[in-house]
Amino acid sequence: MSDALTVRVDSMGDRSAHRALVARVLRIAPTAWDGVLDAYHAQIDAHATIDARLAALGELMGTHFPDAPAIAGALAVAPCPSCGERRVRARYHRNAAAPSGVMTPYTYGVCEGCGHATLLEGAADSAVYASPAYYQAQGGDGVGYPAYEGERTYREAKGDRLVQWAIGHAPEPPSAILEVGSGFGFTRRAAERLGLRTSGVDLNPAAAAAARRLYGMETFVGTLADAIAADAVRPGTQDLVVYDFVLEHLAAPVEELVLASRLLSPRGALIVRVPGIEAIELASFGSLYRSFRSDHLHVFSRASLERMLDRAGLALTAFDTGCGADLLREILDEPELRAAYTAGRGPDITACAIRRDHANSPRHHT
Ligand SMILES: [Zn+2]
Repeated sequence: MSDALTVRVDSMGDRSAHRALVARVLRIAPTAWDGVLDAYHAQIDAHATIDARLAALGELMGTHFPDAPAIAGALAVAPCPSCGERRVRARYHRNAAAPSGVMTPYTYGVCEGCGHATLLEGAADSAVYASPAYYQAQGGDGVGYPAYEGERTYREAKGDRLVQWAIGHAPEPPSAILEVGSGFGFTRRAAERLGLRTSGVDLNPAAAAAARRLYGMETFVGTLADAIAADAVRPGTQDLVVYDFVLEHLAAPVEELVLASRLLSPRGALIVRVPGIEAIELASFGSLYRSFRSDHLHVFSRASLERMLDRAGLALTAFDTGCGADLLREILDEPELRAAYTAGRGPDITACAIRRDHANSPRHHT
């Protein structure tokens, strides 16, 4: 996932570093990725269309990674968690090693109605979120973060960009922000630097301890439902409620959004960042796509996110896609990547939503 990076690549100058980064994000052997790219450059016509280049890479990936077979077509038993459409078909499958070393295949199905991707089998045990190990290592199944605290500077900067985006899209200038899944407090720190009053909720006691140690911040340990029950957060008090790569981990995201919406002040906005299923990378990486990992129960389309927000009484007011690390830099140039992201085809979705009943109040004139 793009938020588990320590290497920043700002130009094609350091090609080998970039290749290592891609291999790490996709959790494949660097030599195998080199092999794919060598074959790609040997066969591709420099004037090939974007679609042709992505498809050529996709074919080579399929050849080099036969352990990721397509099992397309099988109909899932459960309906789509976003739209309720029953035609969810198995589409992406990968064998991956859990931290225990046990091979744990996982499979995503895609809804033919709204495009939402759902993890059909191979979900990680959600107990991992409360474990200190979650922030110390990453398994072959993509679960967890290696060297999380070592990425502090990078993550504070990332948090700053998210909060700036939120301020820019909120109906009115916010003063109070709650982050659900606040981790070590990197984003809260960025928000405080921007003058906001912050609070945080996180399942992980070790993360809460880290936030206290690093920044002197208090974090409610538990779920948002726990925090509300304990009166640690109150209805109508938050100008921003932020979920930064959290919603995809939850079994019941709509129920969570309902709770979050109750906390919003009359000028409040919900900010969510989630992995997207409509990324151009899918055409090339398929089952090896960065956001397919066994703790991601959901990978969102624009339509599926909008539908979930709607079911929680929220209206989408802003939608952007992008990512922290472009994995296709040897395939697409910078303007091509930017154009794809602008068109909603980046791997990371950032969205803003407000309560529909607030939108109808005189406070909002748009
Ligand atoms: Zn659906």
